[in-house]
Parts: sequence; structure tokens; C-alpha cells
Amino acid sequence: MGDVVRFKKPSLKEKAKGRTLCGRGFHKWVIDQKKQFDVKQGKLITIHRCRHCGETKTTAT
Ligand SMILES: [Zn+2]
Repeated sequence: MGDVVRFKKPSLKEKAKGRTLCGRGFHKWVIDQKKQFDVKQGKLITIHRCRHCGETKTTAT
């Protein structure tokens, strides 16, 4: 009964895991702005932002 299982604070590992996933292309996309109009493409787009690394991407709606 001496050992205390201590994996209660995995916050750093969680963040590192997130960055690793980002490096592999697995971003955590959340919609940043809904339905913007891209003048260049001439159509509506949706902006997504990664919660981990802040990278953005746009998709045509
Ligand atoms: Zn990312």
C-alpha cells in the first residue's frame, strides 16, 4: 500500500500529444468563423482553426 498511482496530471503530456497529432496532420479543427465570402474564389467559405496549434484552413461551403 505504499505506492501511489500518480497519473492525475497529464496536462503536459496531453498538450504534447496534441502537437504530435498536429505534426501528423491530425488537427483539432473548430469552426472559427461561419460562412465568410471569399472574394478571390467568389463563394462562401468556412474558416476552421486548430485548437492546439492555431493553424487555420478554409473550406468551401
Ligand atoms: Zn493543429
